[in-house]
Amino acid sequence: MRTRDCGHIISGSSPAKGEAGKTGEWRTQRPVLNKDKCLAVKANKDICFQCWAFCPEGAIERKPGGPVDLEYCKGCGICAQVCPADAIQMESEYDSSEQNKNG
Ligand code: SF4
Ligand code: SF4
Repeated sequence: MRTRDCGHIISGSSPAKGEAGKTGEWRTQRPVLNKDKCLAVKANKDICFQCWAFCPEGAIERKPGGPVDLEYCKGCGICAQVCPADAIQMESEYDSSEQNKNG
């Protein structure tokens, strides 16, 4: 919660990287951006950023094509779900040979 100068309380939140600690070690999938589809990259402007706004870990940098900090990304896939351009795909951290080895 924040307050305005006039004293009114503002209900809202903003992403803060690292509040849940580093999550990269147990992530099983990672987001991969297709820059050809991303609205911000295509326009080269600060637009959209739904992925940034909804990432619960604050792991996405707020700039066109902004990289994901994989030390903090937990692989939840929310960014891929909210992207209006279907520009983010979740990919497994394990290749097929690793999956076969683990059953
Ligand atoms: S997969 Fe989840 S934690 Fe990782 S960047 Fe996307 S929304 Fe953030
Ligand atoms: S939500 Fe999708 S289109 Fe929008 S900035 Fe993120 S990746 Fe690009």
